[in-house]
Amino acid sequence: MEYIIFILVVVLLSLWFVGVKAMVWMPLLALVLFFSFDLGLIFWMFYIPLNILILLPSLRQDLLSRPLVGLINKLGLMPRISDTEKTALRAGTIWVDGEFFSGKPNFDAIFKEVYPHLSEEEQDFLDNETDTVCEMTNDWDVFKQRDLSAEVWQYLKDEKFFGMIIPKSYGGVGFSALGHSAVIQKMASRSQVLAITTMVPNSLGPAELLLHYGTQSQKDYYLPRLADGRDIPCFALTEPLAGSDATSISSSGEIFKDKSGNIKIRLQFEKRYITLGAIATVIGLAFVLKDPENILGKGEDLGITCALVTSNKRGVKQGRQHDPLGVPFINSPLSGKNVVIGLDDIIGAEEGIGQGWLMLMESLAVGRGISLPSTSTGGVKLGARVAGAYAQVREQFGISIAKFEGIEIELAKIAGFTYMLDASRKFTIGAIDAGKKPAVINAVMKYHSTEKFREVINHAMDIQGGAAISLGERNLLAHAYFGAPVAITVEGANIMTRTLIQFGQGVIRCHPYAYKEIEALEKGDIKAFDEYFFKHLGFTLRNMVRMTLLSLSRGYLHLSSRSSLTAKYERKLVWASASFAFLTDFVMAYYGGSLKQKEKITARFGDILSWMYLLSATLKRYESEGKRAEDRIYVQWIGDYALNEIQEAFEQICLNIDNSIIGKFFAYSVYWYVRLNSMGKKPKDVYSKSLAKKLTVPGQERDSLTEGIYIPHRTTESLGRLEEAFLFSTQADSIISKVKQEIHSGRLQKGVSLYEDAL
Ligand SMILES: Cc1cc2nc3c(=O)[nH]c(=O)nc-3n(C[C@H](O)[C@H](O)[C@H](O)COP(=O)(O)OP(=O)(O)OC[C@H]3O[C@@H](n4cnc5c(N)ncnc54)[C@H](O)[C@@H]3O)c2cc1C
Repeated sequence: MEYIIFILVVVLLSLWFVGVKAMVWMPLLALVLFFSFDLGLIFWMFYIPLNILILLPSLRQDLLSRPLVGLINKLGLMPRISDTEKTALRAGTIWVDGEFFSGKPNFDAIFKEVYPHLSEEEQDFLDNETDTVCEMTNDWDVFKQRDLSAEVWQYLKDEKFFGMIIPKSYGGVGFSALGHSAVIQKMASRSQVLAITTMVPNSLGPAELLLHYGTQSQKDYYLPRLADGRDIPCFALTEPLAGSDATSISSSGEIFKDKSGNIKIRLQFEKRYITLGAIATVIGLAFVLKDPENILGKGEDLGITCALVTSNKRGVKQGRQHDPLGVPFINSPLSGKNVVIGLDDIIGAEEGIGQGWLMLMESLAVGRGISLPSTSTGGVKLGARVAGAYAQVREQFGISIAKFEGIEIELAKIAGFTYMLDASRKFTIGAIDAGKKPAVINAVMKYHSTEKFREVINHAMDIQGGAAISLGERNLLAHAYFGAPVAITVEGANIMTRTLIQFGQGVIRCHPYAYKEIEALEKGDIKAFDEYFFKHLGFTLRNMVRMTLLSLSRGYLHLSSRSSLTAKYERKLVWASASFAFLTDFVMAYYGGSLKQKEKITARFGDILSWMYLLSATLKRYESEGKRAEDRIYVQWIGDYALNEIQEAFEQICLNIDNSIIGKFFAYSVYWYVRLNSMGKKPKDVYSKSLAKKLTVPGQERDSLTEGIYIPHRTTESLGRLEEAFLFSTQADSIISKVKQEIHSGRLQKGVSLYEDAL
């Protein structure tokens, strides 16, 4: 009998693990209970009807779901989601983020995702026009002159750098997201000012908005002018009292009829921090549109609307500039008083009325995945190149500082993060090029690329010591250091992106049932609520079983067809995903609508989601690039680093639920179990030696890691000079160590010039 019970339990657990319908496992559970325990008639008198009730939707809806909905409404447990939040939630599409929220990520599908490549035309543009503009730009001069040179501005316009996202049919160059990203990356490695100036017209702004929402005549007029730089655009959303909370903007537009009876809009606006604002000829303006006399017959409050306002309009005030930490790109306040525009100036004309917030959410999400990850990887690759070369060339205590273990630790982080960021940049952009708009993953990319950019620049500067502190033409990192907080602040400041967007948006957007349940509750649709709620219960049960079994087996219950190294981390990711999905359901149920305010908890969930993504992207790169032996070390280092981050986040969640009995249960028992059966530890010290060498040894591996940045050929240029010194230093390495050996053995006297000896 024990044998049969054992088999039944194994089958039951297997069914739960893979997730089958209740109709299949419920009878089996009944059999297990029947054979295992003597439960008595009374138990079965309750148990069997309860099972029937659960399995029959029509009964279940009336007897269980209806009272439950009543209770949820009475206790006010339903999370409130405003219309603007709904718009943000609906923006974009679900991509691999959905896999991580599922608790059962399909890695076969993840590994089949596109790993993109540049077209010949894009590669050509990178090797020629982009190299040329980089060569023309001397970042030290840009800082001294406080602007790009007139020749560079003209070249950018002539070669249509401002029209990378504009299709050829409108006079642009019509690059893919990867091509666009590669250009920005290369520029960022040369000059942040050059990159930002080029990035903004190609990011969230008039061109992007027109392409998606503009009328045909708006496209025909503006896109060719934007592509060749006749018009310089900016996008004006932020205001003195509306930054992160962009829905609270107070710039307004009022519908009125002019003397000839034409319908017009009178604008009042006060914007700040607007990139290219001072020189823009066309302003993409976000404002709240009102129709106090109901001229359009759509009511008084028409909502956030975006329009194109030419800067030569009467009442527009521009010209003053901010000074963004000394980085001399154009950034300024903008204001307008009684500026009159027509309905045709609204993006999308009348159809675009009130659609501004949706437009912004959809376009911002894509910008986050391209612009800032591209400038960040450009900066990170430059930091990697400079730090490695400098560490090799610079000697202290008689040896190259690259040989000190302390330096190795920093170099290893730089090399590891560089590989990981480039992997995730390409992976994300592949999805964007395939037509996806992964809003949550783009937020992950925005946050981590800019944070890692700041971290890598800091490490690289520490390695350079005083040479990175003294400003001058040879200081290759200081300007990137000044620019790092800019990237952290724009397009959703990072603290909010971590605490509110990554998980907050993800949990509603990517969870298979949460949003559907909320919608059903809002509509009072008992049938729909019943369906999603019971599917949700099954989902939670499945993930609880998966989390337990994967944790007990340390992930080995997941079978992977990938190479052994990838499979090792894939198993842990599947385990992490099951735990993440189960705990997500737990915190949603436990905190209810107040989860949104529990930012310390949601931030850690955001971290887990992020590291699952960043590690998956790393594995994808390793597999897509042919599992090169020399790349194993990156996978090992990033794999351990990411799992350790995930582990720490789980531990901190368990420790910080709250002070209730459930909170204490998590803090005193679950926490210790999670700690003892840890998913990962920090990368081993031995990895750092090999990783540091990726940056301190010249050759293909170093080039491949930092591929796509601008390296000047001229040795009169700072980076060219450092590169040359680096090559000479490594070539001389063996001779120098021979000389040192001779001195050590006493055959050669220290401090005596060989030249004098020869004389
Ligand atoms: C150099 C530069 C260029 C810019 N370019 C443009 C542009 O071209 N167009 C444009 O419209 N705007 C632009 N901006 C504005 C930028 O988007 C805002 O600065 C940004 O949205 C943050 O707003 P804020 O500066 O008012 O900070 P605040 O919103 O006051 O935020 C301050 C801090 O509070 C945090 N925070 C806010 N809310 C929350 C929350 N709910 N939970 C946790 N933390 C929170 C933020 O993360 C931040 O750390 C630019 C800004 C800079 C600095």
